[in-house]
Amino acid sequence: MITEEMVTQDFIQLEEKYGAHNYHPLNVVIERAEGVWVYDIDGNRYLDCLAAYSAVNQGHCHPRIIKVLKEQAEKVTLTSRAFRNNQLPFLYKELSELTGYEISLPMNSGAEAVETALKAARKWGYKIKGVEQDKAEIITCTNNFAGRTITIVSFSTEAQYRDGFGPFTPGFKNIPYNDAEALKKAITKNTVAFLVEPIQGEGGVIVPSEGYLRQAYDICKMNNVLFIADEIQTGLGRTGKLFAHQYEEIRPDVVIIGKALSGGCYPVSAVLSDKEILGVFNPGDHGSTFGGNPLGAAIARESLKVLVEEKMIENSFTLGKYFKEKLNQIKSPHIKEVRGKGLFIGVELKPEARGARRFCEALMRKGILCKETHENVIRFAPPLVIKKEEIDWALERVEEVLTSV
Ligand SMILES: *Cc1c(COP(=O)(O)O)cnc(C)c1O
Repeated sequence: MITEEMVTQDFIQLEEKYGAHNYHPLNVVIERAEGVWVYDIDGNRYLDCLAAYSAVNQGHCHPRIIKVLKEQAEKVTLTSRAFRNNQLPFLYKELSELTGYEISLPMNSGAEAVETALKAARKWGYKIKGVEQDKAEIITCTNNFAGRTITIVSFSTEAQYRDGFGPFTPGFKNIPYNDAEALKKAITKNTVAFLVEPIQGEGGVIVPSEGYLRQAYDICKMNNVLFIADEIQTGLGRTGKLFAHQYEEIRPDVVIIGKALSGGCYPVSAVLSDKEILGVFNPGDHGSTFGGNPLGAAIARESLKVLVEEKMIENSFTLGKYFKEKLNQIKSPHIKEVRGKGLFIGVELKPEARGARRFCEALMRKGILCKETHENVIRFAPPLVIKKEEIDWALERVEEVLTSV
C-alpha cells in the first residue's frame, strides 16, 4: 500500500519487484521539479545536469508550457489523424518558419521519428533516385545511438543493444564516425542516405573534427545521397545553436527532432524536410495514432516559443562556453578530456578512474544529478535556463568530487 510514510527504499523495492529491469537508475526518487532543480521525496534538492537526456531544455515544468498543457487538455487531447485538429496546422507552419524546411511529419518518440526518416529515405531512393527495388542502402556510423527499435539496433555497434534481439533489418552499412573518406568509399549506386549525429550523445559526447560534417555533406551532395541529421539530442538549443549542424553551415536534407520539442512535457518528435523528400509519403503509407495529436502539438508550439523568446539558445552558447572553460581548469588526476558545445559537455575520465558511475553517485550526494555515459564519461547537460550562479554552485561540488573521490 502507498502511504505517506514510504521511504526511498520502499519505492525502490516496489519498482524492482513489479517493473522490468531495463534501466539501472541512480537511487533518487524524484517527486517534483522546477526549472533546473528537482526534489526527492524527502525534500532534498538537486541540480539536474542530465535534463532527461536533453528533453527538458526549457527547464522542468516551464510555467508557460504547463499552462498550455492544462488548457489544451481541457479542450481536446486526441482526434487521431482520421480527422483534423486546430493545433497541428500551426505546429507545421511554426516549425517551417523556425527551421526553414518546407514540411514536417510528426511522431511521438525519437525512435519513431528515426524510423520515419529511414522509411522516407528508402522510398525517396526507389521513387526519385531510381534505386532497384529492395536494394536501398543507408550508411550509419559506429558508436551511433538512434533509439531501440529492432531496425535501429540493427545498425547499432553496441553489443548489448543487439544481444538477443536478432534477426536484424538488412540494408545498413556502418563506417567509422568522423571519417569522411570512409563515407566516400562506402557509397554505392544503391546508397540512399547517410544518417549521422552532429555530436554523438549516448556514444559519450563525441565531437567530430571541425569540417567533418561539411565534408560528409558535400560527399552526399555529389553522390545524390540524402544527408540525415539526427538532432534529437543535439537540436533545439542544446549545443548553443538551434541545430548543432549549423556550426558548419550545412543544410541537411532531413533533420530529426524529438526530446526538447515538448520541453519534456509530452512525447513529441518530428521529421523535417522538403516536399521533394517527405512528399514521397501518400495517405496510408505511414502513420501513428498519437502522432500530431492536438495536445502534443499545442505543447510543442509553446515549447518552441519559449526556447526562442526566452533566449535559451543564446544562454546555452554563452554559459556552455563558461561551464566548459571552468571544468577545464579543474586539476584532477582523473580527467582525461573535457569536450562539447554549448551546454552539451562530456568529461571523459581516465581508465584508472574506474568508471564514471561512482563519481555520479558522489555528485548525487552533493546535490547534483548526472548520469555516466559509456563507462568513462560524465555528461553535463543541464536545462538551458540555468544561471551563472547555479553553474558556479555546481562547479564547486564537481571540483570537490573530482579531486577527492
Ligand atoms: C534519445 C535519442 C533517440 C531516441 O529517442 P527516444 O525518444 O528515446 O526514442 C534517437 N537519437 C538520438 C541522437 C537520441 O539521443
